[in-house]
Amino acid sequence: MALERHGIYIAGEWREPAGKAYFPTYNPYTQQPWAEISQADASDVRTAVAAARECFDRTWSRTSGLQRARLLNRLADIIEANAPEMGALETRDNGKVIRETTSQLKFLARTFRFYAGYCDKIFGKVIPLDRPDMFDYASLEPLGVVGIITAWNSPMALLGNKLPAALAAGNCVVIKPSEHASVTTLKFVRLVEEAGFPAGVVNVVTGDGRTGEALVGGGGLGKISFTGSGGVGRKIAAAAGANLTPVILELGGKSPNIIFEDADLNKAANGALAGIFAATGQTCIAGSRLLVQRSVYSQIVDMLVDRAGRIRLGDPSDMATEMGTVANQPQFDRVMHFIESAKGQGARLMAGGERATGAGLSQGLFVKPTIFADVHNQMALAREEIFGPVLSVIPFDTEEEAVRIANDTSFGLASGIWSQNINRVHRVARELRTGMVWVNTYRAVAAQTPFGGVKDSGFGRERGQEGMLEFLVSKNVMINFSEDDRDPFAVQT
Ligand code: NAD
Repeated sequence: MALERHGIYIAGEWREPAGKAYFPTYNPYTQQPWAEISQADASDVRTAVAAARECFDRTWSRTSGLQRARLLNRLADIIEANAPEMGALETRDNGKVIRETTSQLKFLARTFRFYAGYCDKIFGKVIPLDRPDMFDYASLEPLGVVGIITAWNSPMALLGNKLPAALAAGNCVVIKPSEHASVTTLKFVRLVEEAGFPAGVVNVVTGDGRTGEALVGGGGLGKISFTGSGGVGRKIAAAAGANLTPVILELGGKSPNIIFEDADLNKAANGALAGIFAATGQTCIAGSRLLVQRSVYSQIVDMLVDRAGRIRLGDPSDMATEMGTVANQPQFDRVMHFIESAKGQGARLMAGGERATGAGLSQGLFVKPTIFADVHNQMALAREEIFGPVLSVIPFDTEEEAVRIANDTSFGLASGIWSQNINRVHRVARELRTGMVWVNTYRAVAAQTPFGGVKDSGFGRERGQEGMLEFLVSKNVMINFSEDDRDPFAVQT
């Protein structure tokens, strides 16, 4: 049977890629190809950026905030109505469990609603000057065309961190999804069309890293917003630097989730589980380093081993399934490599540590929920982002030691604190060098709050007011209304 074939989407039209090249995309549960994706080349990318620019100049930058808000709200309604179907598609494309993909779709709609509220409230400011006969105001303006490049783990959720704010601010966009999971982004633009956005506001070019490289290197962008690995992030920052294009980089993490002896241990164990085994550990915010105070260490390890053993692996499209597959073969190989090499490093393997097989699992890329105890923070297990269901448990004795271990990493995306002691919570939250801290919860998200990291986890912020400001630039207008002649050879103050 012929696979469904997807073109690229430019200026409201579906097109064949210039080179007429396509590649298959796989369902990681069945490991069967199920659709064909276009490999867009540099000429396709140029066409897309030019179409976005033209739409920006002629239409979108002249569309009122009120009208943009209407469109964003209408799109939110359409996303909600299509959440089950879109969630199922994403599950098919990247193996993420359907209970997560459908809830991510609902959250995408929520984020569109949040930014819809901003569209007609992009206020500038009047700035009083020292001279009474001069008037000054600063307005906030869109950047023009924004390039969006996303990873495979959550194409819709990652798009949701970028697109609503970029559009609300009045920018047009060219999106390049991951070659491993492009289909939902392509289907999503049909929803954008249905909402009535002008052609050219949202464009999608698909393909592998070469397509992304062409987008970054081709110029014509007001900003690039990237989510992906640190290695590619560095390449993008360098290439964007050559064009002086600003970038937002949302990269990886090795986030510490810290359980103190005064925590509610039951909730903390549950939070640790949510931090690493939800989404099969394939999230940048995974709480992959679990720091546990020694007095409750063996109790927590026992609770986790027991719960990890009861996680339901299976068909990701079944609502009852709790953990799906790893999303693609290279990622599966990478996770298994980390597990195998960790076995000789001195950590104690407490659970999992191998491929999961058996009824309903053998054909898919399943890894058993894996727990290593007595991990030392210098081991590769604790230093490198594995991006899979592999937890490293590290003991500590004092609060100071916990903070030191937590911060002893090149990353700085998220962190978690489990404690009932309010003084300790505030102290530790202040000391952690991460962009986000969760207290007595983990992996909770909100459209209103800023998301992003420090250090090797990248820079720039998504969501919240900060996310909106990333896609706006301030323009200052200074007006002289004095009747005096000025001295032409001295700066006017
Ligand atoms: P990746 O860096 O390999 O690819 C990401 C995207 O960049 C893909 O679309 C890819 O085609 C494109 N790309 C590759 N080479 C390029 C180049 N030279 N120029 C421009 N674009 C290029 O990442 P991945 O394997 O898809 O995703 C996993 C990584 O993403 C992990 O490190 C994870 O931590 C990170 N991630 C971060 C966040 C966050 O918000 N901080 C969220 C999810 C995933």
